[in-house]
Amino acid sequence: MQGVGFRPYVHRLAGELALGGFVLNDERGVLLEVEGDEVAVAAFLARLPAEAPPLATVERVRSEPLAPHGDGAFAIVASAHGGGPLALVSPDSATCADCLAELFDPADRRHRYPFINCTNCGPRFTIVHGVPYDRPLTTMAGFAMCPPCRAEYEDPRDRRFHAQPNACPQCGPIVRFGATTGEGALAAAAAALRDGAVLAVKGLGGYHLACVADDERAVAALRARKHREERPFALMAPDLEAARGLVELGAEEEALLLGRERPIVLAPRRAGGRVAAAVAPTSADLGVMLPYSPLHHLLLADVGATLVMTSGNVSDEPIAYADDDARARLEGIADGFLTHDRPIHMRTDDSVVRARRSGLPLLLRRSRGWVPGSLDLPVDAPPLVACGAELKATFCVAKRRRAWVSQHIGDLQNLETLLSLREGVAHFEALFAVTPEVVVHDLHPDYLSTRYALERDGVRAVAVQHHHAHLAACLAEHGETGPAVGAIFDGTGLGTDGTIWGGELLVGGLAGFERVGHLHPVRLPGGDRAIREPWRMACAWLQEALGEEPPLPPRIAVDHSRWRTMASVARSDIAAPVTTSMGRLFDAVAALAGLRAQVTYEGQAAAELEAAATGAGVSPYPLPVDPGPPVLLDARPAILAVARDAADGVDARVIAARFHAAVAAATASACTVLAEREGLSTVVLAGGVFQNRLLLDAVVERVADRGLRALVPERLPPNDGGISYGQAAVAAARLGG
Ligand code: ZN
Ligand code: ZN
Ligand code: FE
Repeated sequence: MQGVGFRPYVHRLAGELALGGFVLNDERGVLLEVEGDEVAVAAFLARLPAEAPPLATVERVRSEPLAPHGDGAFAIVASAHGGGPLALVSPDSATCADCLAELFDPADRRHRYPFINCTNCGPRFTIVHGVPYDRPLTTMAGFAMCPPCRAEYEDPRDRRFHAQPNACPQCGPIVRFGATTGEGALAAAAAALRDGAVLAVKGLGGYHLACVADDERAVAALRARKHREERPFALMAPDLEAARGLVELGAEEEALLLGRERPIVLAPRRAGGRVAAAVAPTSADLGVMLPYSPLHHLLLADVGATLVMTSGNVSDEPIAYADDDARARLEGIADGFLTHDRPIHMRTDDSVVRARRSGLPLLLRRSRGWVPGSLDLPVDAPPLVACGAELKATFCVAKRRRAWVSQHIGDLQNLETLLSLREGVAHFEALFAVTPEVVVHDLHPDYLSTRYALERDGVRAVAVQHHHAHLAACLAEHGETGPAVGAIFDGTGLGTDGTIWGGELLVGGLAGFERVGHLHPVRLPGGDRAIREPWRMACAWLQEALGEEPPLPPRIAVDHSRWRTMASVARSDIAAPVTTSMGRLFDAVAALAGLRAQVTYEGQAAAELEAAATGAGVSPYPLPVDPGPPVLLDARPAILAVARDAADGVDARVIAARFHAAVAAATASACTVLAEREGLSTVVLAGGVFQNRLLLDAVVERVADRGLRALVPERLPPNDGGISYGQAAVAAARLGG
C-alpha cells in the first residue's frame, strides 16, 4: 500500500545492515535491490516482512540473486507510474501511540491539535479522490504545508515522511463550534455536551450525533428527534477502563476495541453500567468503541464521560458527510455542530464486530478501518462490478485475483442510498482502475441494486441467486472453489423457483449449486409486513404445524379477530408468499416465547431470542431431519413444543435455549447426511442468521464432532454485506478472467 512508510523503512533497514541498492514503488507493489555481505543480505530478507511498519501488509516476498553493481549507498527512487495500476489505498487508521503522546504533550508543536497524524495513522480512504495516493488527490489539497511540516514530509527518517494528511495548527485544518474556531471550539463543545446538548460531530467518515450517554433527557431527545425507534445507539467510551464499566469484556473484545480499525464492539451490557435507558431500550448488548481520531480523543478527554456516537442521519438514510448536507439534514436534531474544514470525500460508517471465543471475530459491518482493503479471489475475474443485494448493502469491484468490497452503503430502499451506491461504484472503479465488462446482480428484479445493474450500458449482466452468493462468498474468502455443503440461513432471498428462500441446504461451488434441502415451507402472511410483526409468523407456523386454525397463544398480545384474520391470510394464496426463511422461524419462536410481537428493525426478535437463551445442557426441541431428497428440516414439532412450553409457563430463557439447541442439532445432522451422500467433507455456514454467535458456535462444534470441516465467514459479514463479493466470485468462476 502507498503512504504507509514502507520505503523509508526499507531504507533504514538497509542502512542498519550496511547494504547498498534501491527501493521503489510500482503499480504491483515494492521493488528493491540490495547488495552487500551475504550474511547481511540474509538478515535483511528475514527482517523485511517481520519488522514492517504497522500499516503495511506484506503478502509475499519473492527474491532472486543478481550480479552486484558495486553500489555503496542505498537510495529511495521516485515511484514509477503507468502500466495497469494496482495502486492500493489503505484504510483509515486510529491515532497511533506516538501521535497520541504528542497530542497530549504541552511541549509539542501539535499539542491538542485535532488533526495530528503520521505514516502510521490517520485518515486515508475517506480523504482520497484518486490515485496515485498523493496529497493533490486528497481533500488535504487545499492546505499548503508550512516549512516545518514540509521538512517532515520530505525527510525519509521522519515519521511523517510522505504522510499525505500531514498538518499542524499553522497550516492544517481547524475545528469550529458555532462562531468559535480552534482551541476554544473543542472546549465549548465539551461544555455544551456536559450541559445536555445533542451535537453533530464531524468525524473521519461522516457526522455523528453525540450526547452524554448517561444523560437520560439528552438521549431520549436524540432518540425522539432521530426517529430511531429501538435500534441501539453506539457509544464511545473515553478509554478501556470506562468501556469495562459499561460492558463485559473478554480479552478478545479488548483487543478489538484497541485495534487500529477501532470498530464498534458488541458485548453484553454490565449490570449497573451508567447509560441512559434510551441508549438501547431492548438490547442485551451494547455497542462500544474507543476514540479513533485525535478530535475524538480530545473531545472525550474534555467531556470526561462516555458519549452516544450514533451515525448522523435520520432513520434509514445514509450517514451525512458533506457539510451543507449535514447542516440541512441534522439541523432539526442537533443543538450545535462541531465541525472542521477538512472535507470528507467518501462517507464511511463505523464498523461493527462481535468477538467469538474461538476463531476470528464476526464482522457484522465491515466499513471504516477495513475498507478498501482488498480480498483475494481463488479464480481469475474479468473486470467486473457486483452490485450486492438490498439490506446492509455493499458493492464490489474486481479484476483478476483481486476484489475490493465497498464500505457499508446501508439499506438500499431509498433514493439517497441508491445515489450513494452510484457514487461509490464510480469512485471504486477509478481508484482501482477497474473498467467493468461484467455487472453482477441478485436474481430479485425489484432490488434497487438490480435495477442499477441493468441500467448500465455496454456490460454483460450476470444474475446470481442470493444464497449461492452467500455460499460462494464464504468459500472464496477462504481461497476455495468448492464443492461443499452449505447451510445458508437468512431472512430473505429470492429463490430460483420464485419463492422466498432463507433456510437453504445447498451443494455446490463457485460456478454452480443445487438446492438439496431446506426448511419446511410456510406462508409469509402479508409479505414484508411479517418482517415487522413476528406474531404473524407465529400464526403461520402454528397453523402449519397444527393443520388447522390455531388458538391465540397466551403470550401474544394481539386481539382475537386480528389473529383469526391472519390465520386465514396464511391459508390463502393472496398476500402470503411461500417461504423457507430461517430468520422468520426465529421470529415466530420469539413471538411465541413472549419476547416480542412487533419489531422496529429486521432481525431484532431473533437477536433478543439469542440473548435470552440461557441454560446449557437443556434438551433440544424435536426438529426432525427428513433425509429426502430433498432434505427437510421439519420445524413443525418444535413449534408445537414451543407453544406447549409457553402455555405451561416455561421461562422464555429456557424456550430460547431449547430452540437454539434444536436448530443446531438438526442443521448439523442435515449437513452430515448431505456430506455423506455427496462425498464431501466441508460445510459452509453463512447468511444473516449466523450473526447469532450461539447458533454458529453450536453448529460448528457439532459439525466438527462428526469429522467435517466448517467454514464460516471471517473477512466479510455473514449477512448480506458479503453478498457482493460472493456475486463477484460466482461471475469469475463462470466467465473466467
Ligand atoms: Zn501517528
Ligand atoms: Zn504545518
Ligand atoms: Fe442474505
